Amino acid sequence: MAEARNPFEQAQAQFDHGAEQLGLLDEVRTMLRWPLREFRFQIPVRMDDGHTQVYFGFRVQHNDARGPAKGGIRFHPNETLDTVRALAMWMTWKCAVADIPLGGGKGGVIINPASLSVSEKERLCRGWVDQIWKNIGPRMDVPAPDVGTTPQMMAWMMDEYTKLVGQYTPGVFTGKPVDMGGSLGRTEATGFGVIYTVREAMKHLGLDPRQCVASIQGFGNVAQYAAIGFVDTLGGKVACVSCYDLADKKPYTYSHPDGIDPHFLQSITDQYGTIDKVKAKAAGYVMEEEMAWIDKDVDVLIPSALEGMVNKDTAPRIGPRVKLIAEGANGPTTLEGDEIVKQRGIFLIPDFLCNAGGVTTSYFESVQNDMNYYWSRDEVLQRLDQKMTKAFHDVLDMSLAHKVYMRDAAYLVAIDKVVKAMRLRGWV
Ligand code: NAD
Repeated sequence: MAEARNPFEQAQAQFDHGAEQLGLLDEVRTMLRWPLREFRFQIPVRMDDGHTQVYFGFRVQHNDARGPAKGGIRFHPNETLDTVRALAMWMTWKCAVADIPLGGGKGGVIINPASLSVSEKERLCRGWVDQIWKNIGPRMDVPAPDVGTTPQMMAWMMDEYTKLVGQYTPGVFTGKPVDMGGSLGRTEATGFGVIYTVREAMKHLGLDPRQCVASIQGFGNVAQYAAIGFVDTLGGKVACVSCYDLADKKPYTYSHPDGIDPHFLQSITDQYGTIDKVKAKAAGYVMEEEMAWIDKDVDVLIPSALEGMVNKDTAPRIGPRVKLIAEGANGPTTLEGDEIVKQRGIFLIPDFLCNAGGVTTSYFESVQNDMNYYWSRDEVLQRLDQKMTKAFHDVLDMSLAHKVYMRDAAYLVAIDKVVKAMRLRGWV
């Protein structure tokens, strides 16, 4: 695969690789290389000082052959149509591999949300819905939070949609607050989902989790619950986690000679995933440089921070004992990093399989909204475990049957499911 220039070109290159292996027809390739529909719009927002500011918004529906499009809305100053297109395409594969009856979508606004007051944020959220409400809905396209957006924003957006259609419609957005139609278990879902796939991978590799040590990058939503799951559910040890220190403007790795205590660290971590370094040091934690997590003497690596962290410079640092990499983050491994991991023969759980627990629980949220009946946290997590376990084995079976790398196997499973739906619907 040639080195891609932007996220959408990278997503297209990954798809082309899978399409080649599956021998897809040209018309099928064309339909899947590009989104089915794209919306670009202006959102005029009355600011607190009385002037009107115009923002640019997007919604991309990559494919909805298997069901309504699904995917978050990003509020980010560097948002571009190509980023949204790439993320929408990855959502199509994520929903297909998790086998939930949804397609792929993504949205965004070019804005730094921290620059807005609470009332300006609310008007921007309502303005986004005012522009797109005719093209979203529980049977059409169901947005959710992403970078820069929150459960409160989903509640405002759901309220605006409900007013416009004249009917209470909680299932139009997921990721809502639990007191306003959200699902129990959503907070833990992505990190716990990572651990369900790690558990299955360890069974396959013949590893006893109680004898294994993991190293985790990040300590935000995904990493915190992955760490808790690795220690509490699997009985393993986590050597270190890492975070970006907002005060020092640099990342650190935090390790403890006895293994970290994820509950203690969670209690001293803020909403942005930054650990209180004074309290951590006082409790005997050792602080090291940013990438120290990658060369630890461990069995499992769980990169759960940002994209591109395992790359041509850092992948050679992966310790000789590592047997498993579970990609909690989206796109943590570059194409060159991936080649090194593949050559080393390390077993990889690719991102859109490994972190599908979030979207799976979002799907459970819309199911509960439709029923107007809500499950307990245990029920949600039990169903999540079933879905993640099945998804993992579908990909593993493909990988073993065709003797391909797990990332390639995940693409083969996902693309095949979407193409089948397109055929059954008579699109191709
Ligand atoms: P978050 O913002 O809650 O946490 C990110 C963490 O990464 C923070 O602890 C931050 O300090 C740390 N970090 C940032 N830069 C770092 C660096 N250079 N070195 C070390 N640590 C660094 O985000 P999150 O929700 O946990 O998401 C993490 C990743 O997982 C992202 O790629 C996201 O797209 C992906 N993801 C999240 C979900 C979800 O449900 N939250 C679902 C699927 C995928």
